[in-house]
Amino acid sequence: MSVAGRRIVVAGGADAAIAKLRLLLKTESQLNVFTTTPAPEIESWAANGALTLHRRALAPGDALCAALFYAANEDATEDARTAAIARADGALVNIVDNLQDSQFITPAIVDRDPVTVAIGTEGAAPVLARAIKAELEEKLPSTLGPLARIGKAFRKMADVLPMGRARRDFWAEYYFHAGPHAIATGDKNNVKGALQTLLEKHQNAVASPGHVAFVGAGPGDPELLTLKARKALDAADVVIHDRLVTPDILELARREATVIDAGKQGFGPAMAQDEINQLIVAHALQGAQVVRLKGGDPTVFGRLDEEITALEDAGIGWHIVPGITAASASIAAMGQSLTQRGRNSAVRLLTGHDMKGFADHDWQTLARPGEVAAIYMGKKSARFIQGRLIMHGADRATPVTVIENASRPDQRCVATTLDRLARDLSRAAITGPALMVYGLVPRAAQAALSPMTQELA
Ligand code: SAH
Repeated sequence: MSVAGRRIVVAGGADAAIAKLRLLLKTESQLNVFTTTPAPEIESWAANGALTLHRRALAPGDALCAALFYAANEDATEDARTAAIARADGALVNIVDNLQDSQFITPAIVDRDPVTVAIGTEGAAPVLARAIKAELEEKLPSTLGPLARIGKAFRKMADVLPMGRARRDFWAEYYFHAGPHAIATGDKNNVKGALQTLLEKHQNAVASPGHVAFVGAGPGDPELLTLKARKALDAADVVIHDRLVTPDILELARREATVIDAGKQGFGPAMAQDEINQLIVAHALQGAQVVRLKGGDPTVFGRLDEEITALEDAGIGWHIVPGITAASASIAAMGQSLTQRGRNSAVRLLTGHDMKGFADHDWQTLARPGEVAAIYMGKKSARFIQGRLIMHGADRATPVTVIENASRPDQRCVATTLDRLARDLSRAAITGPALMVYGLVPRAAQAALSPMTQELA
């Protein structure tokens, strides 16, 4: 509903009234405030002619012809009395912090005119709305408003840049770098000058060539992404991800980005890898900023080199953004340390599977007491690994911890021993990605470790 030109009445003269008035002063309504004790802010708004102040309690007839009425007395009895008058006068009534007796509600706003953020909870959680508002107030610089106003006046000029990335880059640089810098070091004219300079710079820039960032998506929890990974996702034109990347993380990709699932099964693995290489190259050749998003760390069992070779053959630039590998997340889930003085001074990262099938390793060394290894992709080869290690003299009681879905809500730790590994693994009916930590027990199970298998939540 538009309240332009309409009469709005507020009863109250303290904080609650001030909060409502701040919001209402943005509108072109006729504001009338009734209070015997107006706060200085209200006095000065009245003095400026922004509102009409009546230095008395609301009486019948005061809300006649009003579109809206706010009871902001911070006193339940007075709120009820004034609301009843306003209702009788025919106004729609809002009682501050009293959803039940209100006929309408207004959202909290963060005001950086022309940028406004409205926060509404349908009255469900005013405390939450206030907390979100406080956080946004802090995050959004007060210069946002002027920057947006100046930017708006400049929009037509920026149309000389080709639509899409070129224009987006220009505006991003303005709002996040050039604009704030110019306003911090000068006045509004300074900002206009900076916009002009920036536009010239972008007009002269040659279209940026395609580029590929190999980004580690971490083990699944979006909070375990690095800031660099977030930035890369924010800037991506195309995101090509593998099967391990969770939907929560894909949510963070730029809204306009093309998201491609390269982890779809159905082809033979070699064929799929070739296709993925071609896909990455094709998008980068078209000038796209491509994020090749890989679960965990891209350099750990990620077939990274094959993709890099394909890019180098095509003359495409690339860089790597490391991520948290499954071993780190799993060991954290166990409450353990990956290395420990006097216990294990080395850790091996092994794969249970390679191109030829079950992967062979230096079993002799691994079978020695005190060895620690993080075994990736080991679910299917558990029996094979168990057999090889025992054959090479490993202690059957060597602890093995299997962590499924590390860092995710459905994370699970199964503590077992080399002897019982294959059997316990099939009993645990693991369906998610799982990592085996050979040689270590979860800290919680350490004290209580008995020959019996322990399953920890
Ligand atoms: N680049 C990835 C590993 C890819 S290989 C990394 O650095 O983590 C795929 C294997 O990683 C899976 O078979 C599983 O053993 C392991 N893995 C990946 N994510 C995992 C998770 N959240 N929990 C447990 N294991 C995981």
